[in-house]
Amino acid sequence: MLGLMQSQQLLISSLIEFADRHHHEGEVVSRRVEGDIHRCTYRDIAQRSRQVAHALDQMDLGFGDRVATLAWNGYRHLELYFGVSGSGRVLHTLNPRLHPDQIVWIANHAEDQVLCFDMSFLPIVKAVHSRCTTIKHFIALCDADKLPADSGIPGLQSYEAWIASHGSTYYWPEFDENSASSMCYTSGTTGNPKAALYSHRSTILHAWAGALPDALNMSARDSVLPVVPMFHVNAWGLPYAAAMTGAKMVFPGPAMDGKSIFELIESEKVTFAAGVPTVWQMMLGHMQQADLRFSTLKRTVIGGSACPPAMITAFNDVYGVEVLHAWGMTEMSPLGTVCTLKNKHVPMGSQEKMTVRLKQGRALYGVDMKIVDDVGAELPWDGKAYGDLLVKGPWVISEYYKGEGDSPLVDGWFPTGDVATIDADGYMQITDRSKDVIKSGGEWISSIDVENIAMAHPAVAMAACIGMKHPKWDERPIVVVVKKPGADVSREGLLAFYEGRTAKWQIPDDVIFVDAIPLGGTGKMQKTKLREALQDYKLPGL
Ligand code: ADP
Repeated sequence: MLGLMQSQQLLISSLIEFADRHHHEGEVVSRRVEGDIHRCTYRDIAQRSRQVAHALDQMDLGFGDRVATLAWNGYRHLELYFGVSGSGRVLHTLNPRLHPDQIVWIANHAEDQVLCFDMSFLPIVKAVHSRCTTIKHFIALCDADKLPADSGIPGLQSYEAWIASHGSTYYWPEFDENSASSMCYTSGTTGNPKAALYSHRSTILHAWAGALPDALNMSARDSVLPVVPMFHVNAWGLPYAAAMTGAKMVFPGPAMDGKSIFELIESEKVTFAAGVPTVWQMMLGHMQQADLRFSTLKRTVIGGSACPPAMITAFNDVYGVEVLHAWGMTEMSPLGTVCTLKNKHVPMGSQEKMTVRLKQGRALYGVDMKIVDDVGAELPWDGKAYGDLLVKGPWVISEYYKGEGDSPLVDGWFPTGDVATIDADGYMQITDRSKDVIKSGGEWISSIDVENIAMAHPAVAMAACIGMKHPKWDERPIVVVVKKPGADVSREGLLAFYEGRTAKWQIPDDVIFVDAIPLGGTGKMQKTKLREALQDYKLPGL
């Protein structure tokens, strides 16, 4: 017997319609490429996303055609989120930090038909447009009078002129909720980039679960600042969750430096911010130097790479901001786990709480996870046994775009490439990425642990641990370190700092000081580049 409930497709258009109806005064504030602050409401976003839908219809784009963006976080990008997906096209957020050749490869692979870009990316578009063979329309996200006359880009139009001639009444099409809504390519640290192709259903379920109190805890009382770019896994779903809850949105545009982010948090009374550790590192550095304090920020979700304990302590103890350590990946939309405490942890002392907070957290409802050994046998949830982490759920990919039926799944589970433990309370902790783990004398050394200890030293700004070939031990760890400006520590001083903080055999064999560690398009340390740079390096004593 079937239930007698209405069967309504979960479509992204319903999010902006909901926000328009129930939170029409909800604010959307953006720092623009032009440098000024732009203010509008969810009603404005709803009306303009309907104009976008009309404009796409007029371009004669088919259902499922890809519309690409090269854009910072801002209101026009948000309108495209709803207008493109809502009208049945697929929003493809290109990562402007990639090399132009990679952008060309990705745009051609996705067969993008339209490219909407912020004016700060005009030089990239000029460099790539003639090689992006499927793109028929170029739209600059600017006012009509800001359009450059001699761009050399065929048919270039301004976004404002493009949508201006269309009405703000639009009947969003109804279609199967499993239809594709957006796509995002993985950073492609190995091989060619691969795309996760999200659906309307997966996007809505992900936003719904992500907004829950034990995940990101979003509400109409929040002012939300996604520092995580909208071109990085849909800004972790925040634009959708914000429309779902009516939270105020604050967009940083291109100004990602510590000072600009801090100023925006204060001026827009931000209660909740989201970003990768490197962004927060810059902001905390600025706050320390200028002796600043937050007045409204309550919590921040940090993920994308392991959050160093020193950062959790700084936010928690110095600034009174709760850190939600989160883990996920492009293939998971991205949220898999978020670290929030259970009731039994509440009375614990701060040291004990810290051991919980350092973990990547508990699975969101909808995500199932397990750890397995080399032969695929499931390992116990005891917080000690570590193995390959596999996941499944309605917002985890089943295959890559153009995967031609080739499934990356193992018995229905997606192998994450991460190595982790899970404790009896279900808290997962990443030990490493399987390709970064250091295999020494038959044992594994977690590069994250080695980095976290270095990061706890007051003179260290950033640390990357990599394994170096060793004739006896197979591999030995070394740590590559960037010092804080004006601070100093010697090689011996840092190695001595490890004493008593980890097992002797896990202490790195060497410290190499550098001016900067290469960061990838999503702010993660690029260890492959470091390995390349150190290919002639010899471990001490060899
Ligand atoms: P890519 O896989 O292309 O590097 P993603 O942004 O999808 O890009 O990265 C996902 C990976 O990032 C995860 O598999 C994991 O290795 C790492 N990661 C994400 N969040 C965390 C975290 N909180 N702690 C440790 N590693 C993390």
